[in-house]
Amino acid sequence: MQTRTIAEPYKIKMVEPIKTTTRDYRAQKIREAGYNTFLLKSEDVYIDLLTDSGTSAMSDWQWSGMLLGDEAYAGARNFYNLERAVQEIYGFKYVVPTHQGRAAEHITSQLRITRGQYVPMNMYFTTTREHAERAGGIFYDCIIDEAHDAANPHPFKGNVDIAKLQKLVDEKGADAIAYLSIAPCVNMAGGQPFSMANLRAVAAWANQYNLPIIFDATRAIENCYFIQQREPGYAHKPVREILREMMSYGEGMTISSKKDNLVNIGGFIATNNEQFFTQAKEMVVIFEGLHTYGGLAGRDMEAIARGIYEMVDDAYIASRVRQVEYLGNRLLDAGVPIVVPIGGHAVFLDAKRFLPHLPQEHFPAQALAAALYVDSGVRAMERGIVSAGRDHATGQNRKPKLELVRLTIPRRVYTNLHMDVVAESCIALYEEREKIKGLRMTYEPTSLRFFQARFEEL
Ligand SMILES: *Cc1c(COP(=O)(O)O)cnc(C)c1O
Repeated sequence: MQTRTIAEPYKIKMVEPIKTTTRDYRAQKIREAGYNTFLLKSEDVYIDLLTDSGTSAMSDWQWSGMLLGDEAYAGARNFYNLERAVQEIYGFKYVVPTHQGRAAEHITSQLRITRGQYVPMNMYFTTTREHAERAGGIFYDCIIDEAHDAANPHPFKGNVDIAKLQKLVDEKGADAIAYLSIAPCVNMAGGQPFSMANLRAVAAWANQYNLPIIFDATRAIENCYFIQQREPGYAHKPVREILREMMSYGEGMTISSKKDNLVNIGGFIATNNEQFFTQAKEMVVIFEGLHTYGGLAGRDMEAIARGIYEMVDDAYIASRVRQVEYLGNRLLDAGVPIVVPIGGHAVFLDAKRFLPHLPQEHFPAQALAAALYVDSGVRAMERGIVSAGRDHATGQNRKPKLELVRLTIPRRVYTNLHMDVVAESCIALYEEREKIKGLRMTYEPTSLRFFQARFEEL
């Protein structure tokens, strides 16, 4: 048991002021934003926990690397630095940069899915599923049932249920499956990790049917930290080694560098499959840019390369995940319902238990995120019925079991005093929860509706 405080393994060199506002001001702003926190202006937000995507603070080493950007159209030196970092840290031979994660998903889905094929995923991710479906793929949820239960304390809720995969093969045949899309620290389940033992078993199963694993490796290093903390045999292994083992079970990966990789923009495809690499290089030229920049500036690729080396520092990743746990534990101590165990990048308020008086059709998580902003200027995000969207076949709302508000912690940005402010606001709202009203949707975009939908209070 750790008894001494462990502080952040860095100090602050530059600060960015943030604005405090009044409750009346915020009530007006959220109304103008259609009760959608995505439509608020950043300058009206006090503590921004909307996402950890692209919101990391870069280090002085990354910033100094930005000045070494080689902005040549072709063959920039920063591309080769990125390629080397991916080879050394993730262990994949071939790298195709993209402007962010969804671009890597788009190219991968178009190249690897034949219309009508299934794409098993350990729970869906919004953009990953959208691109798979646009390529004619059919999403198949293969995560363990425990992941759909916010109160279940299973330590590896990101695990794949091999029986579900077997059922799909038995019913449809292995040829009906494009590949397994496996995500570490499953975002939509609350940032929940899988175990190495489970991954090893999934890889052995997939091998029998010649099915490749293509990781959505966006949150791999946070998953590696949980393996180090929770899985027998890994306590003394550096996360760097754990990551190499994890990636060794896959044929390739897509990634949003805006998370683990500690940068504000970027992503890539990496693989050991030469044919896939060749095809991805051809396609990236159409949608992103030449295969040695893929929509990124040379300086962006340098920052990613350096971020990749920084993310595998054990002290850094421990302090990152411990800050998330700090916030989560404050809420648990006060009896506020959250998803347990506490995830790797965010604390998820369980809106179903927080607001039992609101039916799911009244968008409880959306309403709670709006109320949190009005109370304290803290910006969070809905991850529930709005994010889940409509079923493409029936046009009906998908009704996910999890109706959550995500408090996502940017990397290296806020202190634990900011976390205290967030906790106090959540606790105050919980004490007066029956005052929070449901919402009605007044504008609904046709896809990824959560980004731009508008609401009004019932
Ligand atoms: C953010 C994210 C993506 C999409 O990446 P972008 O860079 O936002 O396009 C894909 N998968 C997961 C798990 C993510 O968290």
